[in-house]
Amino acid sequence: MNTIYADNAATTKISKTALAAMLPCFEENYGNPSSLHTVGQNAAEALFNARRTVAECLGCDPKEIIFTGGGSEADNQALLTGAELGARKGKKHIISDAIEHHAVLHSLKRLEKLGYEVTLLPVNGEGFVDPEDVRKAIRPDTALVTIMMANNEIGTIEPIKEIAEICHEKGVLFHTDAVQAVGHIPVNVKEIGCDMLSLAGHKFHGPKGVGALYARKGLLVSTLIEGGAQERGKRAGTENIPGIVGMAAALKEATDNLEANMAKITKLRDRLIEGLSVIPHSILNGPRDKRLPGNVNMCFEGIEGESLLLLLDQKGICASSGSACTSGSLDPSHVLLAIGRIHDVAHGSLRLSLCESNTEEEIETIIKAVPEVVDYLRRISPVWQDLQEGKRTYVIQ
Ligand SMILES: *Cc1c(COP(=O)(O)O)cnc(C)c1O
Repeated sequence: MNTIYADNAATTKISKTALAAMLPCFEENYGNPSSLHTVGQNAAEALFNARRTVAECLGCDPKEIIFTGGGSEADNQALLTGAELGARKGKKHIISDAIEHHAVLHSLKRLEKLGYEVTLLPVNGEGFVDPEDVRKAIRPDTALVTIMMANNEIGTIEPIKEIAEICHEKGVLFHTDAVQAVGHIPVNVKEIGCDMLSLAGHKFHGPKGVGALYARKGLLVSTLIEGGAQERGKRAGTENIPGIVGMAAALKEATDNLEANMAKITKLRDRLIEGLSVIPHSILNGPRDKRLPGNVNMCFEGIEGESLLLLLDQKGICASSGSACTSGSLDPSHVLLAIGRIHDVAHGSLRLSLCESNTEEEIETIIKAVPEVVDYLRRISPVWQDLQEGKRTYVIQ
């Protein structure tokens, strides 16, 4: 049985280009970039080139890139930076929204314990933050606004350019978690006008455990990991050269092929949405437009997302019920609740996230398999029985 991998929002397969770029970093260029000898200096050169590549792809200066241990770390560092810079001026209010990744939401919880006040803006039924809500929420003591560029569960692409403009008008720092966006849709930090932006290598066919924080020149970034002077003192620890080099190669490849990949993946996505929408009592989560090219997320009434996943896995289809972090816990997704799905419906969710190596044939296989599994699960579901007998009313028409 061939495996169909449709969980690219959780992580991606490393690209051949990225892997090929990494191998010499293990076998020849294994030095420590801080060492003065040739082997070390070769590693330092690889680091320099990788930083230049990442900066070129994002449209910024290499000095504005700090390599981190992944997307979560970049988010943590960005929020700490915004919080500490604000505190120096007596500003301890932070604005975010209800559908952020837990790397942001849990960082905000920590800051609340440290005496910061957090406003979490609501989103509409498609997951959009209203920029006017941001404007209204900004106070004289607002230190930071952090709104994600694209949502990892439902694919909503937020109006961050408008939000960044409002923040700058008001003199407030703006960070965006662009982990799902970078390598998938155009991301140019100067065009967006953000002060900070987070990304992670493994979401665009790079290696895991490596990411980057873009921080606008002149911004005093807080140090999360104390120690040596690596990353201009902003992130101590011997650099993950293979990871950084692999991430840079993957980002360059994704950037070079962005238009073609977007067109291809969007077509697959739309066919998948069309094919699954015929399932009775199903609903698409997130918008039709302004949606990540590879994201499909739907709820099917009367079933459990986890059972659906396991049965699809038996058919060789790898999907997700939401974010990888929520799976394994019984709480329904905070994102689905925020867009107005009730608990029961939110439990019956399925996320399929595609990449450029998925094929039309795979999409047709999924379109055939999902209704079969949904139908099977409904036949054995007491909830579905009640719905059918009119003892309960359908929430999804
Ligand atoms: C995956 C993800 C993260 C976390 O990145 P890691 O590299 O896994 O730490 C943060 N934000 C979003 C939106 C993500 O999709």
